[in-house]
Amino acid sequence: MDTSSKPAMNAEVDPQTLQVGIRPAQIATSLILVTLLAALGMSAFRNADARDRETEFLSTVEETATLVISAQRDSLAFIDAIDDWRDNSRNIDSVWPAYENLTGHLDQIDASDEIAKSVISPTYLSAVTELESAVKAQNTTSDAINNARATILRESRGWLTTYQTTAVAELKELSENRATNERNQAVLLLASLALSVWLLSWIAISVARTYRKARVIISQEESKVVSARSALRHASDQLSYQAHHDSLTGLPNRVALMENLSIALNEKAQQPVTVFFCDLDRFKVVNDSLGHAIGDELLIEAAVRLASAVREQDFVARFGGDEFVVVCTDIEDNAAALRMAERITRALSKPFDMHGDEAFIGVSIGIATSRIDSTANQMLRDADIAMYRAKALPGAHIEVFDITADSYSVRFDTENALRRAINNNQLLLHWQPIVNLKNGQAHTLEALVRWDRPGAGILLPAEFMGIAEDSGLIVELGRWVISAACSAAALTDDRSVAVNVSARQLRDIRFVDDLREILAESGLPPERLILEVTEHTVIDSAVVNAPLRRVRELGVRVALDDFGTGYSSLGLLNRLPVDIVKLDRAFVREITTNEPNQAIVKALVQLTAALNMMLIVEGVESDAQRKTLRSLGVLHGQGYWFGQPEPGRILTK
Ligand code: C2E
Ligand code: CA
Ligand code: CA
Repeated sequence: MDTSSKPAMNAEVDPQTLQVGIRPAQIATSLILVTLLAALGMSAFRNADARDRETEFLSTVEETATLVISAQRDSLAFIDAIDDWRDNSRNIDSVWPAYENLTGHLDQIDASDEIAKSVISPTYLSAVTELESAVKAQNTTSDAINNARATILRESRGWLTTYQTTAVAELKELSENRATNERNQAVLLLASLALSVWLLSWIAISVARTYRKARVIISQEESKVVSARSALRHASDQLSYQAHHDSLTGLPNRVALMENLSIALNEKAQQPVTVFFCDLDRFKVVNDSLGHAIGDELLIEAAVRLASAVREQDFVARFGGDEFVVVCTDIEDNAAALRMAERITRALSKPFDMHGDEAFIGVSIGIATSRIDSTANQMLRDADIAMYRAKALPGAHIEVFDITADSYSVRFDTENALRRAINNNQLLLHWQPIVNLKNGQAHTLEALVRWDRPGAGILLPAEFMGIAEDSGLIVELGRWVISAACSAAALTDDRSVAVNVSARQLRDIRFVDDLREILAESGLPPERLILEVTEHTVIDSAVVNAPLRRVRELGVRVALDDFGTGYSSLGLLNRLPVDIVKLDRAFVREITTNEPNQAIVKALVQLTAALNMMLIVEGVESDAQRKTLRSLGVLHGQGYWFGQPEPGRILTK
């Protein structure tokens, strides 16, 4: 029996030590018990047998004793008849019946049991024979007759006693045998009982001990699950925090700003929303001359001053670089807006103490106020346009967006130019490799659209995608991109091609049909095409889920782009119709040193593996980052380290 390990409720128990079931020693004991029980059964049979034999013996004795008594009586009767005959020779007639009776009984005794047989001696029998011959010879007087007569009397007198004594001795022996047998049986019974009790308690104790251990192991496992769950939740929270905050200043970031502004516009439709787009004036100079570290300090200080210049209920975000945005929901009119802008200007115009050097940083502010149907994108663009005007106009630091002067013509021009661009072959694709981090091989190329705008050079998506989205031109533009990408990919090797698709495109009713047509025309196998959609696209609208599922039915894979910048819930991943997750480059920037980010990447590696998804990490810019990612288990990456987006020749490499 194992008495060595007594598990305490809180001590770690190794599941290996959990032996369920009965041990070999217990099996051996059970075998002994079975043997004992078998012996007990045998002895019970023997006992019954002995009892039967005793009963049988007693009834034989009863019968034979009667015979012996009869023979004794017959002997006397025979002697009496002989005496009669000797007194009067005419009385011979009664001798023969007496003789017959006697020999009849003697024959019966002879045929019955051994004891009775042993009682009748040969001497007696020869005396009877002698008397018979004397009678036959009519000799009434010889000595031989007297002797025979005396022998018969003497011998027959002791028969019953002898018989009884011998029978009793025999019976005693039988009873003693039986008693011994019964004693053995009792001993066997007791032993079996004791052994059963012992075995049962032994098994009960082992089972109880195993049960206790199992309970400990179960609670251990449960607490492991709980802590794994909370680690995942923690990583998820962290991810969501990081996705919504700027790591340098701790202010909400662009994603948080967009969410907050959209909510403000939706919820407070009757109340005007005012956006202040603030851009530091001489930041670039300070940053370049005093270095990035001082530049970072300055940005932090600017963030602190900005936050304390506005009121509790106002929302401040870092938009990027040296741009900050303030959102207010209760500014009554232009005058109030200008007063708020002045406060911000005052706060940021005081000199910044940069380790003994005084830096004078000004700020330019563009103000936009919401109109009916304003969107977050459009308000920010309006405020941005006003800010540019503020910067460009000498002496003006604050400008209010003016719909007639600022936007309309610019937008209209761009929109028209973009519309023409699609038909006039001004769009082109650049390709960026997605590689296997282990062997460096590029297995996929991402197509990134560019606009070669006459007189403006090659424009990046950031410069025209907004207008393409707002005007709906994105549908046509996107179709061109997919078609161009598929045709180019079909002509080349077996690498896959990834194309970015926006929500507006997916909502287009013809999207899936167009896609099927493009695939057929280009001859590109569907499994070599990947459509990239952002997290917002997938989560925001239930409408895009259906087309995405149909896309996957075609055999085309779907990638979740810029993961970590949207709602960022790890828990949501398994419910989305995607095959690939692309972690946004925000998580890679400090991956070599930032432990929370490492934890997020690790959690994501495990989660995507469990969900059978491919994980690609974006924005890998150095070998150190690549190595860290490798050590965290990441298999696929994309970024300047492996290759910048380049024109078509990359495909034919
Ligand atoms: P994205 O899909 O996340 O594409 C990757 C962007 O990150 C590209 O910018 C690329 O040049 C940049 N990038 C790649 N590696 C690195 C790196 O190591 N470090 C840094 N800092 N950046 C890197 P790009 O070409 O300006 O595209 C910007 C975004 O425009 C894309 O982001 C995508 O969302 C969108 N886009 C591009 N082409 C299309 C298109 O055809 N259709 C749609 N709907 N959107 C597109
Ligand atoms: Ca992409
Ligand atoms: Ca991306």
